[in-house]
Amino acid sequence: MKIGLLALQGAVAPHADAFGALGAATTEVRTPDQLNDVDALVIPGGESTTMSKLLVTSGLADPLAERLAGGMPAMGTCAGMIVLADEVLDGRADQRSFGAIDVTVRRNAFGRQVDSFEADLDVAGLATPFHAVFIRAPFVEGVGSGVEVLASTSGHPVLCRQGSVIVSAFHPELTDDLRIHQLFLSLT
Ligand code: GLN
Repeated sequence: MKIGLLALQGAVAPHADAFGALGAATTEVRTPDQLNDVDALVIPGGESTTMSKLLVTSGLADPLAERLAGGMPAMGTCAGMIVLADEVLDGRADQRSFGAIDVTVRRNAFGRQVDSFEADLDVAGLATPFHAVFIRAPFVEGVGSGVEVLASTSGHPVLCRQGSVIVSAFHPELTDDLRIHQLFLSLT
C-alpha cells in the first residue's frame, strides 16, 4: 500500500511524520504520473481555492477525479476536506471539488483566522476524546445517507467517513495523537 500526499500546497510534512510514526511510508504527489503510482491519497490542509487552481494547472484534476471515482482511498484534512466534498458553500465560483464523499461543506464556517480554536472531540470508535485543532475550518452542513458522522462540535459534523474516504475539518496531523491516521490506514 503506497500512500501519496498531495504536495501542491499546504501542510504536507506533518502528515508524512504522522504516517511515518505509524510505520507507513508516504510519497509526495505533484504530477499525474506520481498519482498513478500510489494506492491512496491524503489531501492536506492549506487553502482549498489555491489547491483547486494548482490541481488544474498541474494536470492532476481529471486523473484525480478518475481515481476517486474508481474508489481510491482518500483522507482530507481541512482544505483537503473541502477538495474531497461533493458540494462547497462559500467557495469561489471556479473552485473545484471532487465529490469523493457525499457531504456539503461550508468554507471558513467557524469564522476568520482569529477564530481558530481547539476542542476535545468525542469520536465514534475512540475510547477517549481527540484533541482537535481547527484553523479557519470548514464544517459539514449536509451529509448523504452513506456517510457516517464520526464527530461533531457545536452541533456541526467535523469528522466523516464514507467507505474508505475520511475527512476532517480539523488538523489531526498537528497533534501527536495518531488515531485518525491509524483509522485511515485501517480503511486502505
Ligand atoms: N479556509 C481554508 C480553505 O478554505 C482551509 C484552512 C485550512 O486548511 N486550515 O481552504
